[in-house]
Amino acid sequence: MPPGHPIYGRLGNTTVARFEAAMADLEGCAAAVAFSSGMAALTACLLASVARQRPHIVAIRPLYGTSDHLLDSGLLGTTVTWTTPEDLPAAIQSDTGLIIMETPANPTLSEHDIGRLAKAAGDLPLLVDNTFATPILQRPAEHGAQMVLHSATKFLGGHGDVMGGVVTCTEDFARALRQIRIVTGAVLHPFAGYLLLRGLSTLPIRVRRAAATAAELARRLAAHPSVTRVFYPAHTDDRPPGQMDGGGSLVSFEVAGDPRDVVARVRLITPAVSLGGVDTLIQHPSSLTHRIVPDDVRQRSGISDRLLRLAVGLEDPDDLWHDLDRSLSTSAQEAAR
Ligand SMILES: *Cc1c(COP(=O)(O)O)cnc(C)c1O
Repeated sequence: MPPGHPIYGRLGNTTVARFEAAMADLEGCAAAVAFSSGMAALTACLLASVARQRPHIVAIRPLYGTSDHLLDSGLLGTTVTWTTPEDLPAAIQSDTGLIIMETPANPTLSEHDIGRLAKAAGDLPLLVDNTFATPILQRPAEHGAQMVLHSATKFLGGHGDVMGGVVTCTEDFARALRQIRIVTGAVLHPFAGYLLLRGLSTLPIRVRRAAATAAELARRLAAHPSVTRVFYPAHTDDRPPGQMDGGGSLVSFEVAGDPRDVVARVRLITPAVSLGGVDTLIQHPSSLTHRIVPDDVRQRSGISDRLLRLAVGLEDPDDLWHDLDRSLSTSAQEAAR
């Protein structure tokens, strides 16, 4: 928030500033800058890099589908080198401005070690998309990330009725991001800021309750005859130590039959994209959120055509299980016929 009294809405707003201050505190960063959406927040980070004469971005797949597309298209004047955590040092160039990663990854929920990547990044800023974990379960800045990005549309708002994005970072980065926000106009509306601020008051209980339900559903799905594979962070042994508390509230799984049949049969669960709200949502990544990602990249990222992603909300765990079990079993019976 610029000093002095408010001059014009695009320059700053006190309600939005309160949301930003709360986010900076939650992520353990010096500052935060809020935007009209998660993609607007990422756009500002990329433009800041271009403005510093460092248009080259190193990114680790898989990323959120639209983030992947924004980087791959070079729309904003950035170039990208896609790499793996192991090959990160070789991907860095003299004009690299930013290293981008997401953990847990979308939609496979695989985890990357933030601390190791921050070390490999050296002086270069590492940006972590922390949308899936939220600062309740994971604080990337504690592991050396200089920038943390959220689609506030998801858990921070928490009710599927507001769009926003936020970057927490050093005061130095924040200044550059605020300047870009002023000239591009990607401001968070004050009413959205109010809703997000209110969402933060219940963030810890919502996130922990949804994560507990997700862990239980992941356990039951793993034992279901129509399910061939379950992706849930807490189920894997080689997790980055001390990074994420529990497994979060997303569960991905592969089914033996047609995944679209399962989506068509749920009644309590809503077939829809998004995540982090009160309602449990199910979607088929290869035909929805990751349709925009090239086929071969999708396959290599472990996003098979049989994969479904469940974003767990706040309903009763048994009610959710009955809905899933019935949909999975009916689909399998139809497939056998
Ligand atoms: C939704 C999402 C985004 C984009 O955010 P919008 O608010 O939809 O623009 C970026 N990253 C992740 C991980 C997301 O889930």
